[in-house]
Order: sequence, then structure tokens, then C-alpha cells
Amino acid sequence: MSSESKKATIQEYIKGWGPELEIGIDVVDEEHKMFFELIEQVFEAANSGYKEFESVFQVVLSHIAWHFKNEEDYMKSMAIYTKYVETHRDIHSQCISQLGKMRDAVLKQNSEDDMVYQKELAINLAYFVKNWLIFHIVGEDYKIAKQIKFIEAGNSPQRAFEMINEKMDKNIEILTITLSNLLKIYEIRNEKLLEIEADIKSSLNKKEKQLQEQIQENKKKSITDELTGLFNRRQAMFVLNNIWNEYQDPTCAIIQLDLDKFKEVNDTYGHHAGDLVLKQFSNAVKYFFDTNELCNKYKYNDRDSIHFCRLGGDEFLVILQKYSLDEAVAIANALHAVVNGIEVLDEHKKVIWKGSTSIGVACRNADNRDFESVLKAADAYLYKAKEDGRNCVRSMLHEIGGGVFLAEYL
Ligand code: GH3
Ligand code: MG
Repeated sequence: MSSESKKATIQEYIKGWGPELEIGIDVVDEEHKMFFELIEQVFEAANSGYKEFESVFQVVLSHIAWHFKNEEDYMKSMAIYTKYVETHRDIHSQCISQLGKMRDAVLKQNSEDDMVYQKELAINLAYFVKNWLIFHIVGEDYKIAKQIKFIEAGNSPQRAFEMINEKMDKNIEILTITLSNLLKIYEIRNEKLLEIEADIKSSLNKKEKQLQEQIQENKKKSITDELTGLFNRRQAMFVLNNIWNEYQDPTCAIIQLDLDKFKEVNDTYGHHAGDLVLKQFSNAVKYFFDTNELCNKYKYNDRDSIHFCRLGGDEFLVILQKYSLDEAVAIANALHAVVNGIEVLDEHKKVIWKGSTSIGVACRNADNRDFESVLKAADAYLYKAKEDGRNCVRSMLHEIGGGVFLAEYL
């Protein structure tokens, strides 16, 4: 026989189920036959796509588990030598665990939401199952039938087991052991490769996560004032720009604050004391916005409607999206009262700053179409508050002698 035709015979042989694979136990042969039919479906499904492959392969795995269990029960019921049953069972469970791992490798995870179906591995897996089964039937399942025959002929289970080994052609025995070893080597190698792939994946995921965290951290830093933790000037301008460009509702007011005689703190107690004042002032005002009823208007359906920012130095800005001028002035007055209650103490409990701030309030209206002019207006009212002796609120709508009137636009 030429080597070409030998090859053809082998290919023919592994095509699927045939009489040469029958071991003579009807119930087992029937299940093996079903197995081969299912495997043919795996080839077809693997070519169609991952979903199809996965659903058919799941059926194959269930069939294998069911069949192995039946075969093991059958061996026990036929009183086959216990040690052999255990060895046979080990081979079964190794096969199931190996197939599970190979199945997992068919879907390669590139990133958290990027999974790639590896068709070649799916087809390879179908070939593996098919060849493994042939090898197992010829190598091990035949031994079941033989041992049963020896037991039926009056031999003890142990003797029956010894007889199959004695009667086995030495070359076939060597071939079977070698092939089993080769299979084991392949399994170990496969497992190691999967472990390496999992390690690479997890370290890539870790790197990706670190990078994302770094980006988030940098983003946060770029919009945060380092000393107070408030939004910085850049973010204040971004928010204003956003409100002006994105929102249909034009209602928006701003409050501008500048601490009074803050420089004196620096000059008298040092820069560090000045920093302490800025921090405590910021915390107190933040708390005010978080808790004051006047600031609750949109708290439950729009958490971002109030932005408290540090523009720089001792100058602060509050953006009140969707708040009218009336509401903003009421908030500014309440805030002013709160600031007046602040006392910043040094480590000896000595007062280094008694709360005092000048406040200007302005809003978006027909005269202030762009946010720069609203800022300018608020700044002008703040300047007026300073001019009026500091520690007061001035706005388009500001109080004089208890009465309320619309102040002339500056
Ligand atoms: P006015 O009542 O007119 O506002 O007077 P003022 O003393 O508060 O003067 P002004 O607002 O012009 O001074 C702000 C000072 O804040 C000037 C600057 O040295 C100081 N300053 C700016 N940034 C910081 C900072 O981060 N920490 C500290 N400690 N001081 C700062
Ligand atoms: Mg000041």
C-alpha cells in the first residue's frame, strides 16, 4: 500500500462512526454513535459563528458528561475491577476539564468589552474531541467489553483486568501508552499557554485600569483648585460656556465674592494662616450650599445646578443655573449671614479672621446676553459692595433702607 493510500484510509477512518468502533455493548455503542453525529454538527456550527458554535458545543459537553456517567455506572453494574473503573473515571474527568478550558479559549478577550471569536480554535476543538473519542474507544472502552467477557467466563474482576494486559499486543500497548503521554503533554502545554494568556490579559487589564484612573485623576486635577478642593477658574468658565451654549432655559444667576481685608491675615499671621482661612471659608460655604433650603430648588432632579468655584486668591464665584435674580439675591444674603458667623482660629484658639465678605450678584438678561458681560456685571456689583464699606451684598436688585428696588445697571 502506498503512503498516499494509507493516508486516505486513515482520513476515511476518522470520518466518523463505523463498525470498527463498535465495542459490542449496545447501550455504549449507541451513545458513542450519537456522539459522532453531534460532533459533525460542531464542525458546521464552528464555521457559522461563535453563537452557533457555543450552543452546539454546550450540547456536546452535556452529552459527554451524561455518557461518561452512564458508562461508569455500567462498569460498576458489571462488577469490573474497581481500580480499573477509577482509572477510567479519571480519564473521563480529565477530558471534561480539558474540553472546558479549550472551549473558553475559543473566545479571546482583548479588552473588557472586546471579545474575538477564534474560528480556527473552534474547528480544532471539534477535531480534538473526535480524535480523542476514537482513541478512547479503541484504547479504553474495548477493555470494558473484554473484561466483561473474561468475568462472564468465570474469572474474578481483578483477574479479568490482568488478562487484558497480558493478552494485549506489546506494540499496541506501547503505542497506547505513548499516545496517552503525548496527549498529556499536549494538555499540560495547552494549560500553560492558557495560563500565560490569562496572565497577559490580567496585566493588560490592570494597566488599562491604571491608565483610566490616571486620566480621571488628571481630569479632576485640571478642574480642581488644589488648596480648597473647589472647582477652579478653568472649570467655572467651562460651566458658564456650557450653560450659555447648551441649555434652552436662559435662567442663570451668578454670585461673586471677595474676602474683606484678607491680605491683613497674610501680613499679620503669615501665608499659612491665610491658606487656613481660605480652606475654612470654602468648607463653610460648601456646607451652606449642601444644606441650605434656598439651594434645594433643583437638588433632587439636577445636582449640578449650583457650582461653587475659586477664581483665584480670595475671589470666589457661584454659578446658579436655573435660579432667578430674586432667588440668587436671597441666597447671597443668607450666605453673607453665614460668612459673618465664621471665625477662623489659630492653634492657640486666637481669632485670625472674622468672617467678612463683599458680594456682587448679577443674572442673565436682555442686557447681558453673553456670560462675559454677566461676569463683568457681578464684578461691578462686588466693587460697589467694597466701595459701600465692604461686608455687604450688592446686585441689580439690592436693598437700601429696607426697601427693594431695581438698581441701575452699571
Ligand atoms: P479687599 O478687602 O479690598 O479685598 O482687600 P484684601 O486685603 O482682601 O485684598 P485683595 O483681595 O486684593 O488681596 C488678596 C490677597 O490674597 C493678595 C494675595 O497675596 C493673597 N493670596 C492670593 N492667593 C493666595 C493663597 O493661595 N494663599 C494665601 N494665603 N494668600 C493668597
Ligand atoms: Mg479681598
